[in-house]
Amino acid sequence: MLDELIRNMKEYAKENNVPIMTEGGINYLMKYIKKNNIRKILEVGTAIGYSAILMCSVDENISITTIERDEKRYLEALKNIKKAHMEDRIDLIYKDALDVNLLEEYDLIFIDAAKAQNRNFFERFKKNLANDGTIITDNMNFHGLVNKDLESIESRNLRQLVRKVKEYREFLENNKEFTTDFFDIGDGIAVSRKA
Ligand code: SAH
Ligand code: MG
Repeated sequence: MLDELIRNMKEYAKENNVPIMTEGGINYLMKYIKKNNIRKILEVGTAIGYSAILMCSVDENISITTIERDEKRYLEALKNIKKAHMEDRIDLIYKDALDVNLLEEYDLIFIDAAKAQNRNFFERFKKNLANDGTIITDNMNFHGLVNKDLESIESRNLRQLVRKVKEYREFLENNKEFTTDFFDIGDGIAVSRKA
């Protein structure tokens, strides 16, 4: 039943250009959640609820707070979460994440929203991370663009965005508070834990 919903969501994402996680990325995330006994998750960037529903499906004791600012995607996510019968375990917030203030603590914070804002999300929500918790960031490779020479990228906007992703990687590499491992999984994943 969940399988069919997931299949339909993938189809929808493809038709509507919704950048859901790749197979490799979501598999890694689900394994990480299982292995580390993660219970409470904060996700920045719900899109249509694909990754939230799959993360939630790992164990029935998992609860997720997830944030989406796009109305159409938020509404689609709401529908999908109901179909998955996970409305009691997934709390969907329709807001810009940079305007969201949370008081609770999470075992895992998953950042998968606007790439240029990664550092802002990280700094905004790190106070909500449990002491032994993890922050995972998606799209660290930006579809391979991060490894290209900046000068070879024609569009100014794109260049600016690639620069931001590179800066975020340096921010993590040089961070004294957190230790980060980078993995070439999906579109590139960063796994940060308190040092
Ligand atoms: N995690 C999802 C995919 C998220 S795509 C999955 O794998 O299924 C990124 C989403 O982040 C987009 O839907 C976009 O609207 C949302 N987003 C980008 N910036 C945001 C912000 N500042 N606040 C809330 N949502 C944001
Ligand atoms: Mg992503």
